[in-house]
Amino acid sequence: MKDAINPGRDPIERQMIISEAIWELLKEKVGLTDEDLVKKVREIDLRDGVLDGRVKPEPPIACPKCGKKMKKGSSTCIYCGSNIPANVFSR
Ligand SMILES: [Zn+2]
Repeated sequence: MKDAINPGRDPIERQMIISEAIWELLKEKVGLTDEDLVKKVREIDLRDGVLDGRVKPEPPIACPKCGKKMKKGSSTCIYCGSNIPANVFSR
């Protein structure tokens, strides 16, 4: 089971398979529809104001404890050691 979600030779294809699996489970178990998915994809794409199939990268966030800029994708501040839950979808 663990090997099924580890990156293979083609990480994009692996992500496609994982997305497809998640979506099929949501349709089967929760009853969402393809229309729901299309609507949500459009909503996320438009968060940066442009419907272009991309999401604008976000600027680094400030550490809530010391105020210094956090390294992107890091959950630990390199200046004060504060731990913050990382946004797994940050770009
Ligand atoms: Zn800090």
